[in-house]
Amino acid sequence: MAELKGSKTKLRAYFLAHVGEVLSYKQLQDVAGGVAEFGRRIRELRNEEGWAIVTHRDKDDLKPGEYMLESLKQRPAFARNISNETRACVLDRNGYTCQMCGLAAGDIDVQGRRVRLCIGHIVDKSAGGSDDPGNLRALCTKCNEGASNVTLPRPKLIKLLAQVRRATAHDQMKVLRWLIKKFPSKVSKRA
Ligand SMILES: [Zn+2]
Repeated sequence: MAELKGSKTKLRAYFLAHVGEVLSYKQLQDVAGGVAEFGRRIRELRNEEGWAIVTHRDKDDLKPGEYMLESLKQRPAFARNISNETRACVLDRNGYTCQMCGLAAGDIDVQGRRVRLCIGHIVDKSAGGSDDPGNLRALCTKCNEGASNVTLPRPKLIKLLAQVRRATAHDQMKVLRWLIKKFPSKVSKRA
């Protein structure tokens, strides 16, 4: 166990010394001292400590097996303490969509990055907000960091319908599938 802990410390230090640089699987394996489970240590750094370590799944200019620590900013600790169950429930309720900018998990944002969702508080903890699911919402990592800082106003219904009517049939089908998934109980079984 001491060895595993040591490898995480070494990996953290290495990432912090190489912010914004592309690091290869091989490099990191060497840093971790050839520990077989170093991939898990990296996930712990990301998920438990909140470091912004990205892979090809998050960033299109990274190849499989490449990693990058994007910034020195850690996600706030609260976001790491929410149980997987609560997280899944909130994401499901919000239709896997960022409640600030409206992008969905897996969408590609303006900078070509895949959208990753996290859980944020509606009433901030500093303002007395609780960790209760009712006070949580899905946010993309960017909105959560306050990077975009814009809450889009909800579209007016008339405008929204006009947009959907003008969309391709293919996209309309996607909207339909998304709505059915979001409101399963409203779909008539006889239809
Ligand atoms: Zn967002």
